[in-house]
Amino acid sequence: MKPKTGPYDPGWVVELAKEQRPADAELVQGLARCTMMVGECDCGCGDPHFVNPASRDWKVKRCVELMRADGVSVIVDVLEDGRVGSIEIGEWWRKK
Ligand SMILES: [Zn+2]
Repeated sequence: MKPKTGPYDPGWVVELAKEQRPADAELVQGLARCTMMVGECDCGCGDPHFVNPASRDWKVKRCVELMRADGVSVIVDVLEDGRVGSIEIGEWWRKK
């Protein structure tokens, strides 16, 4: 199956970051720039990638955990250059 690419609306996760990490401007701004998917997780879970994990730019600086209103955790991978590399939605039991 070909990875999904194209426009992405990060509004839901920007809102979570503003609520839960209001002082983390890098996070909020990084998420707001997540408007174009370059692919998605190859396990089939559909988690969006905004930087290709196989590329030279993929240097994870930190992972930030947010919580969706339904209690599902959302892990944001922030890269060295401040971009958000991917958003992992923690329905781990559904993933391989
Ligand atoms: Zn996956």
